Amino acid sequence: MSSATETDNVTASNVHPNSLRVYNTLTKQKEPFETLIPGKVGIYLCGPTVYKEAHIGHMVGPVIYTFGSEEQKKRFLPRIANLDDWWCQGFSEPGAGSDLASLKTRAVREGDHYVVNGQKTWTTLAQYADWIFCLVRTDTEAKKQEGISFLLIDIKTPGIEVRPIVTIDGGREINEVFLTDVKVPVENLVGQENKGWDYAKFLLGNERTNIARIGMSKQRIARIRELAGKEMSSGRPLIEDERFREKLAAIEIDLKALELTQLRVVAADAKRGNTGRPDPASSILKIKGSEIQQATTHLLMEVMGPYAVPYIPEHDDRWNEPSEVPDYAPSAAPNYFNFRKVSIYGGSNEIQKNIIAKAVLGL
Ligand SMILES: Cc1cc2nc3c(=O)[nH]c(=O)nc-3n(C[C@H](O)[C@H](O)[C@H](O)COP(=O)(O)OP(=O)(O)OC[C@H]3O[C@@H](n4cnc5c(N)ncnc54)[C@H](O)[C@@H]3O)c2cc1C
Repeated sequence: MSSATETDNVTASNVHPNSLRVYNTLTKQKEPFETLIPGKVGIYLCGPTVYKEAHIGHMVGPVIYTFGSEEQKKRFLPRIANLDDWWCQGFSEPGAGSDLASLKTRAVREGDHYVVNGQKTWTTLAQYADWIFCLVRTDTEAKKQEGISFLLIDIKTPGIEVRPIVTIDGGREINEVFLTDVKVPVENLVGQENKGWDYAKFLLGNERTNIARIGMSKQRIARIRELAGKEMSSGRPLIEDERFREKLAAIEIDLKALELTQLRVVAADAKRGNTGRPDPASSILKIKGSEIQQATTHLLMEVMGPYAVPYIPEHDDRWNEPSEVPDYAPSAAPNYFNFRKVSIYGGSNEIQKNIIAKAVLGL
């Protein structure tokens, strides 16, 4: 998953500049990064919401280059790297979130294709995706983890319907996806039939490392510092308040520790080479990264004080005087609420603790 609320802070430093595209909800087009409108993007409730979406393709890319066929690599990887194709993740189902292996979406082989029936849910940005990678049940008799396959499905295939789910902040980043008699060519099966659980675990390990979002938290902390220098508390800038400084310092120390841990995990990974197996340490990155993201969005609300009440001046025609609410304030509350998701998606933090207990601590 992803956030559409903070695109005003994105930088293209780790993405080839020609390949970065955003979806402009006004023009309904994928557009070059430069079309981002400074100061407007990322504010959900007023002005255009523009998405930068890269990582979902980045989730399936490593699965394809590790387990996919040569044809799949040639066909999909360049288009993923160039962001020509956007992807969404069809793992979760009603009744199969934490217990993902209970998934019921069924794929039955008929000649040179599979016929897929079922429902996916919480599918982030499916409304903009060209492709969906899905876990499907191909064997109902086997142990539940052993009857799952990994399919690449063109989302425009007849029989697929995407319905939005509105999030607490009013956003529309997640969806339900219904699949009815969807025909998927057999060549879109990744790796071997009934081995999809292994590929899914590999993908989830990468996804969890990605959720640490250290760069994003650094940017938000810089923003908190800047705004706390402007906002006044008891007659002095908030940034001079000892209690506030203590809270900010505690988050910064946690973030530094997380950054060092991530570097250790990445270095160990590079040393081991691509084993195709997840590193359980990614669960630690996921937990701490999501806690820090939630702490920073909380602190930003604190900086905004009463201004954080979601109030959109230009949507309110009862007033004819300029608003006292600073233009950066209205996104604080939507961000705060939106970021409650981070401890849920990618596998909830409780589940990550179970993984750490078992796979890291050997309990
Ligand atoms: C904003 C958002 C975006 C998402 N995007 C996607 C997406 O793009 N694609 C996709 O496939 N999925 C996506 N998800 C789904 C996400 O992965 C699931 O929500 C998550 O795995 C939890 O599953 P669940 O919602 O079914 O909750 P449940 O599994 O029903 O869990 C409910 C609660 O019980 C706890 N719990 C459950 N089992 C245990 C246990 N064994 N031990 C301790 N506690 C337990 C959980 O931690 C949680 O607090 C998204 C979710 C959100 C919120």
